[in-house]
Order: sequence, then structure tokens, then C-alpha cells
Amino acid sequence: MSGTAHSLTEFNTLGLMQGCQQLQRLNSTESIIEFCRVYDSQSQPLLVLGGGSNLVLTDDLEGTVIKIESKGICLSEDNEYHYLSVAAGEDWSRFVASMVNQGINGLENLALIPGTVGAAPIQNIGAYGVEFEKVCDWVEFYHLQHKTVTRLTAAECQFGYRDSIFKNALKNQTVILRVGFKLTKHWQPVVNYGPLSDFNVKTITANDIFKRVCEIRQSKLPDPKVIGNVGSFFKNPVVSTECHQNLLKRYPDMVAYLVDNGVKLAAGWLIDQAGLKGYKQGNVGVHDKQALVLVNHGGATGTEIVNLASYVTATVLDKFGVELEVEPRFIGKHGEIEFHG
Ligand SMILES: Cc1cc2nc3c(=O)[nH]c(=O)nc-3n(C[C@H](O)[C@H](O)[C@H](O)COP(=O)(O)OP(=O)(O)OC[C@H]3O[C@@H](n4cnc5c(N)ncnc54)[C@H](O)[C@@H]3O)c2cc1C
Repeated sequence: MSGTAHSLTEFNTLGLMQGCQQLQRLNSTESIIEFCRVYDSQSQPLLVLGGGSNLVLTDDLEGTVIKIESKGICLSEDNEYHYLSVAAGEDWSRFVASMVNQGINGLENLALIPGTVGAAPIQNIGAYGVEFEKVCDWVEFYHLQHKTVTRLTAAECQFGYRDSIFKNALKNQTVILRVGFKLTKHWQPVVNYGPLSDFNVKTITANDIFKRVCEIRQSKLPDPKVIGNVGSFFKNPVVSTECHQNLLKRYPDMVAYLVDNGVKLAAGWLIDQAGLKGYKQGNVGVHDKQALVLVNHGGATGTEIVNLASYVTATVLDKFGVELEVEPRFIGKHGEIEFHG
């Protein structure tokens, strides 16, 4: 960080040493709206920051960061559903634990995902067979150009695999204020994902799933407080069935799942098979137990992570002919930038 007023090192889970010119911590929905009303989106770059667990800060931001810290959970119900209205700055992981504790089921598979509730719709977070879209009722946001508060239904959010309208038509135009959840009282466990499949579905509780998911995550994923990371750095690539068949001839034990639009390959398997698990480059590297995770061994800059991500994508492309896409958002000097291998 050079020549910037505020360090962002503690606000991004990769622990990258970048900064910004202005930092505003906004702890209520009203203060977020107030800031957005007067903010001129043409004048200088703005970064909306939640928990910083899905960001790569490639440079110091020449602009303002607003850190979303609004709190509040409102519950209501009818005979069929629990309805929750949750402020964007609530911590996702604490929110899920609190709902499971209160016997409000449906979020348990999404336990222990870092970050804020407001960021969950953006990439339609998912884990252990459940995606955010399954529990979403609506998303309310402030539109930075129109200067209005708008609510979209889950269907209008155009959710896809790690994707939504907020990464496409509404990219960088919104500040999410509140998220609505609709959780059925006729709960059905989702246990078709490998490590959950040995549960007895007749006796299982949401708390059992919650505990199992927490155990697996804690044993598999590095804790960002110990070693900087953003979880999975790459999406699982979807290839055509023809491409998959060709790859299978060369790699019969390749990990893959059938999906609607082709065959989804396991990015972690590809990186591992390319010999990169545990690979180090200066202060950064590929995690030695989980090849999908890039880590900061200490003191890394954004440039080092970008160079490593480029090296990993090029190596996988060279070996398998498969292009990897990154999962986190890349933020440069003037705002969001595209990552091109
Ligand atoms: C150890 C680890 C494990 C993870 N596991 C998973 C997983 O299992 N599944 C999964 O899907 N993800 C996972 N992630 C990624 C991450 O937790 C999610 O993407 C999370 O939703 C990011 O939340 P955040 O608040 O940290 O967002 P940030 O990193 O702060 O922001 C991410 C993007 O959202 C924007 N943004 C944030 N808040 C708002 C808002 N209120 N309004 C508008 N834009 C906003 C930011 O500008 C940025 O572009 C993992 C990350 C880590 C570190």
C-alpha cells in the first residue's frame, strides 16, 4: 500500500496489502441509503465491501470503499413458511447458525460460508447440494444511477451457477440493502451430496446436517484467519459431452458430473493432476491439501495472486485444453477489472 489513506489488509480474507483513499463503515440501512443518495457514481470509483471473502484487490483503489455493516433480522410466519428479512451487513455464517438453533430449517447446508448476507445473492452462493436461490424470496437494493430502492423477486434475480443479475445486467450498479428468505415448514433434508449421503433421511435433523457440514468444512478448507484465501478460486468448468469423452480416453479416473448444459469437471482435480497442489510462487501458492484454493503465505500483493492465477489457468489449459474461470471479483485502481488468464 503506497499513498493511500486506509489499509484494506484486515478487510479482505486473502490479506492482500492494498488500500483505498476513503473508507466509510455504514452500520444501518438508512446510513447506506444516505451515502448512496449523495454519492456521484461518475466522480470516483466505489467499492461495496462485505466481508471481503470473494475479492482480489489487485491494486490500491483510487476511490471510496463502503463497508456494509447494517444489522437486523425480522421474522414472520404463516402456516406454510417462515419469512425472514435480513440486513445486508449480517454475518452469513452467524445468521445460519442462529436460524438452525431456533429450529428454522433450510439453511443448514450453507453453514460456515464466510461473508455477509448482502453478498450472498451476487454469486448465488452454494455448498453441499444447496444454492442460495433455493431459499431466496426477494432482494432489495439501492440503484446507484437511478437513485431508487427496488425489490426483485428470486425469479427476477436470474440466478445461475455462481451467477445472478447482479453480476450481469446490474453489475456494479447496486448496493444490496436487505435480503428476504422463504423457508418451508415442510422441511426436506438435502443429503444427496457425497459426504452427507450416509445419513438416515427418516431420522435426520437440520442440526445433524449443520454439524456435519461444519466438520467437513473445517477439516477441508483453510481458515482465512490462519492463512489468507478466498475459498474456491476457480469455478468448476462445464464442457461439452464430446470434450468430456475425449478427455476420459486420456484420463479415465477424471472427476465429472452430468449437468443440464454438459459435463461439469472438478477444477480442483484438474489443478491437482496438473501437478500444482502445494505449488509456491513467492509469497503465494496453491494450497497443499485443497488445490482449488490459492493462498497468501504472508505479505503478498494483488499482483502476486494475479500472476499465480494466470499460471494455474495456463497450465491447466495446456494439459487438458480446458479453460478455468475465476470465482472471486478482481478490483483494480479504478474499480472492478476482468481477469484474463
Ligand atoms: C474459506 C472460504 C470458503 C468459502 N466457501 C464458499 C462456498 O462454499 N460457497 C460459495 O458460494 N462461496 C464461498 N466462499 C466465497 C465467499 O464466502 C462468498 O462469495 C460470500 O458471499 C462473499 O461475501 P462477502 O461479504 O465477503 O463479499 P465481498 O468479498 O465483500 O464482496 C464480493 C462481491 O460482492 C460485492 N458486494 C458485497 N456486498 C455487497 C452489497 N451489500 N451490495 C452490493 N454488492 C456487494 C462486492 O463489491 C464484490 O464485488 C468462500 C470463501 C472463503 C474465504
